[in-house]
Amino acid sequence: MENKLVIYNTLTRKKEQFIPLHEPNVGMYVCGPTVYSDVHLGNCRTFISFDLVYRYLLHLGYKVRYVRNITDAGHLEGDRDEGDDKFAKKAKLEQLEPMEIVQKYTLGFHEVLSIFNTLPPSIEPTATGHILEQIEMIKEILKNGYAYELDGTIYFDVEKYTQSHDYGILTNRKLAELLEGTRELGGQNEKRGRLDFALWIKAKPETLMKWSSPWGWGFPGWHIECSAMSTKYLGTTFDIHGGGMDLQATHHTNEIAQSEACNKTSPAKYWMHTNMLTVNGVRMSKSAGNGFLPKELFTGNHPLLERGYSPMTVRFFMTQSHYRSTLDFSNEALQASEKGYKKLMQSIVTLEKLKASETSSVNVSELEANCYEAMNDDFNSPILISHLFEGVRIINSAEAGGETLTQTDIELLQKLMHTFVFDVLGLLPENDENANNDTVGKLMDMILNIRLDAKKNKDWATSDKIRNELTALGFEIKDTKDGFEWKI
Ligand code: AMP
Ligand code: ZN
Repeated sequence: MENKLVIYNTLTRKKEQFIPLHEPNVGMYVCGPTVYSDVHLGNCRTFISFDLVYRYLLHLGYKVRYVRNITDAGHLEGDRDEGDDKFAKKAKLEQLEPMEIVQKYTLGFHEVLSIFNTLPPSIEPTATGHILEQIEMIKEILKNGYAYELDGTIYFDVEKYTQSHDYGILTNRKLAELLEGTRELGGQNEKRGRLDFALWIKAKPETLMKWSSPWGWGFPGWHIECSAMSTKYLGTTFDIHGGGMDLQATHHTNEIAQSEACNKTSPAKYWMHTNMLTVNGVRMSKSAGNGFLPKELFTGNHPLLERGYSPMTVRFFMTQSHYRSTLDFSNEALQASEKGYKKLMQSIVTLEKLKASETSSVNVSELEANCYEAMNDDFNSPILISHLFEGVRIINSAEAGGETLTQTDIELLQKLMHTFVFDVLGLLPENDENANNDTVGKLMDMILNIRLDAKKNKDWATSDKIRNELTALGFEIKDTKDGFEWKI
């Protein structure tokens, strides 16, 4: 398959031509959420970005196996094996079983992503469903001499690994730099090196989520699940591995080391990282207190929000910036996106009604080529959108009698707009809620004025009938001294 797709590879810090290992198949692994709380809008940015990648690869004709995991065990609060288990802590707080926490937030995650019209992955494996594979991988790493046991806990031996491998390969950092920011080791029973990380963690008497292993009862460290599940479903080396930029230095660095130590090969050919969604320049996260939920965004019920914004407005807002750039959230930016999204959707409606001319005054094939060029350049959606707005200009001008289009060009433009707006950007037409509310409001005023007249004429039967039937439809009617009030 001939294509001109170029992907920025974090591993080489270069844009590289995309050549799949087993064309036309493409294997893509993206680190999924840790399901111990609601996903915030920042998490959604990462998943929407990879949805765009998935959609475009499918559009190019690849047979993509997209694996996105669910982390439902083994994630401690600190990325370096410190702190409480996130699930156990939340389970205590909400007085639920850890697996009830997992179920609750997995369902919430799926619901949010479907509201944003993201395609489900081909496989969504869970850490708890792959304990055996993780244990097997740890056994192999131990056998190869890259791990050691300390009282039921297995650590990856980074120093040993660095004797033959470049541990900082992904972030292009030397060991000394990586050591910065890690704490000094203290007690006797601790791991050997500051960068060593846990592959398996010994359970404490109170640990709820634990499994039997050759090293006693315990649970897997956070990083090993992704190595085990990507190997299982995509093989020891696959095409694309993705996640948020915040995962590069620890989680993905450790994934590479584990796969090298176990499979003796680098796991992925292309590493892709999405940049962060920020609020006033600060990364959106739960701990910063600016990690608002999609639900709050839709209703406007959050101190940072002037009002609510629709899911497609938000999706459009996200695709208006390149996945490797930071995206700063603001009400002004969302309001501008709302206008842009509506303009784009309206132009597609107008396009259906355009009348053909004898000749075309514009070059639609060139516009199509520009759209592909933008997406082929490392999925550059903002540039794609600027070309789609050239399409909007042509459509509006043609409707007003300016530009002209032949029937063939109208059809080509329809195909182009549908392909890129719906299939690739993943946008959907949305009903205009406000317009609907307006119409309902006018109808209610009309009906309730008829009821008021009936009451004035002492026609109680009609007045009661109107109120009862509206109540049955879910409206609440209140008589006031000035007339009426109603709500749904
Ligand atoms: P977590 O559930 O914390 O493991 O995160 C799930 C995904 O969301 C990871 O790929 C993170 O890198 C990503 N992520 C977290 N915060 C943000 C943010 N503010 N902007 C973009 N992606 C984020
Ligand atoms: Zn991962």
